Amino acid sequence: MTRDAEAGDTTGMDLGYSKEDESFRREVRAWLRKNLPRRGSEAGGDGEDQGYRDPKRIAAAKAWQRTLAEAGYVAMGWPREHGGQGASIVRQTILNEELVLHHAPNQIGMMGIQMVGPTLIQFGTDEQKRRYLPRILRADEIWCQGYSEPGSGSDLASLRTRAEIDGDYFVVNGQKVWTSMAQIADWMFCLVRTDPAASKHRGISYILIDMKSPGITVRPLVQMTGDPGFNEVFFNDVRVPRTNLVGELNDGWKVANATLRFERNMLASTTRTQQLMVDLVKLAETRSRDGARASRDPLVRQRLGELVTRVWAMKYHSLKQLSDEIHHRPPGIGVLVNKLVTTELNHDICTAALEILGNYGPLAKSSAHVVGRGLWPRDQMFTLGLIIGGGTSQIQKNIIAERGLGMPKGA
Ligand SMILES: Cc1cc2nc3c(=O)[nH]c(=O)nc-3n(C[C@H](O)[C@H](O)[C@H](O)COP(=O)(O)OP(=O)(O)OC[C@H]3O[C@@H](n4cnc5c(N)ncnc54)[C@H](O)[C@@H]3O)c2cc1C
Repeated sequence: MTRDAEAGDTTGMDLGYSKEDESFRREVRAWLRKNLPRRGSEAGGDGEDQGYRDPKRIAAAKAWQRTLAEAGYVAMGWPREHGGQGASIVRQTILNEELVLHHAPNQIGMMGIQMVGPTLIQFGTDEQKRRYLPRILRADEIWCQGYSEPGSGSDLASLRTRAEIDGDYFVVNGQKVWTSMAQIADWMFCLVRTDPAASKHRGISYILIDMKSPGITVRPLVQMTGDPGFNEVFFNDVRVPRTNLVGELNDGWKVANATLRFERNMLASTTRTQQLMVDLVKLAETRSRDGARASRDPLVRQRLGELVTRVWAMKYHSLKQLSDEIHHRPPGIGVLVNKLVTTELNHDICTAALEILGNYGPLAKSSAHVVGRGLWPRDQMFTLGLIIGGGTSQIQKNIIAERGLGMPKGA
């Protein structure tokens, strides 16, 4: 990230960006000023529901991603031959920072861009890369992740959805659950058991399933935010071409873990956490408490101080990771620490906001007395889900303890 670091000199620490990178930042800012959809428009922004219930909203969100893609701002880190820019991690970080700081709408095809796309680049066949990657970039096809099952969440390798081989096809039977975006997805990257006799991590394969295939039923589940963000997905004799296998047959665990690593990266946006913290301080400066500004209250100040300290510790941790990446040092358990810390911090910041808002805090968008657009209570609930999704905090802590700190494996 730093000039010294980019030059290969790690003796000093310069937390600034190079002139070229700063010029890239200005370029991104200018582009965003011209192209950003109006806040509150159908493309969304941070105030919109996560359920994508309205077809107009889906179309607008796809159009936004396409606009970004045409400017070269989607998947900038992918190699050029696959539609990316081969951009450095620093440029990708700058782009992400600017998108968050400008409250840009989420990219609807995030699971394609951040999860299955990089997985296909690593493990896919040439034909798979050619077929899927361009459509991922332009949001022409939306993806969902078929990992979790009833009874197989943290213990993912115990999954039971099975795929039997029948000529050139897999025949899939079973059920997935908590499948985000399945209600609008065109494709699912899915873990299936292809060898029930093998030990549990072995007989798993990673396949790509067309969500329009006969035999698939999607049932939305409403989250506590009120949005139908995730789903149950049932498979009844669903036929999937064998060419949709990614990696080797029965070796899907390896591929699945690569996707999980990409997912944890996606969930750990430190810029988003910093932005939330800025919003929280603004809230404390504008809301009153016992006749004075909330930011004057010693208890509120103490809480803000504690949260800001954690945000900065997280920020420096992520800068260290960035530096490791620039110098091709293995990330170790750093990504897990990031996922653990940012998701918990996001939730704690939102909870502090509700405390500042007092009795009006929990009111939803539909209430006549809602504060602002009711985003704090919505985000407080939503961020709780992100502590669970992509591997719960407890699981992250187990792995950090065992692989990072060398502690003995728990019972
Ligand atoms: C918002 C959201 C979106 C999601 N999206 C998707 C998706 O798109 N696709 C998908 O496949 N899945 C998705 N999930 C599912 C998610 O991956 C699982 O919820 C998660 O892995 C936990 O599994 P579980 O819900 O079965 O809980 P369980 O595994 O049953 O865990 C229950 C509790 O026990 C704790 N626990 C379990 N094992 C241990 C252990 N060994 N040591 C200590 N504590 C333990 C857990 O931390 C947790 O608190 C999503 C979840 C959420 C909340």
